[in-house]
Amino acid sequence: MSLDGTYDEANIFAKILRGEVPAAKVFEDEHVFSFMDAFPQSKGHTLVIPKHSRARNYLEEEPQILAPLMLGVQRVARAIRTALKPDGLMISQFNGAPAGQTVFHLHVHIIPRWDGVALGRHGGGMADVNELKALASRIAANIA
Ligand code: AMP
Repeated sequence: MSLDGTYDEANIFAKILRGEVPAAKVFEDEHVFSFMDAFPQSKGHTLVIPKHSRARNYLEEEPQILAPLMLGVQRVARAIRTALKPDGLMISQFNGAPAGQTVFHLHVHIIPRWDGVALGRHGGGMADVNELKALASRIAANIA
């Protein structure tokens, strides 16, 4: 999948937004939905996606959707900081398969990092669902 293409309504994040596939929800408002990455690169790896969007990537997104998306990312990142007390936080976003994108509904990764703990592989192993739910609750409790 290159940068060009049409939005696929059957992508996994569209299914999550429609409630067809479960997710460990962290936060939701009228603009964004946030949930735990099921194949986390670190403890607390969280995704934030726009709810009302058919943008496949950052370049395609409308400004009026991008702005609340990035505000949502900051809000969730602050909650992760408070809840999990990481030493650092990566905020990343990939556009096109050669850049590492695997799901073609715009999304932003928030990946907490700790001193001396290596970053897990992108597309690595699946996390335990109950652990993801517990992390989601801890982060959700700290949304300001
Ligand atoms: P990207 O590779 O930037 O497109 O990111 C897609 C992310 O979605 C990856 O980090 C995957 O681990 C994650 N992912 C894929 N399927 C699911 C799912 N069903 N629930 C939660 N996260 C998912």
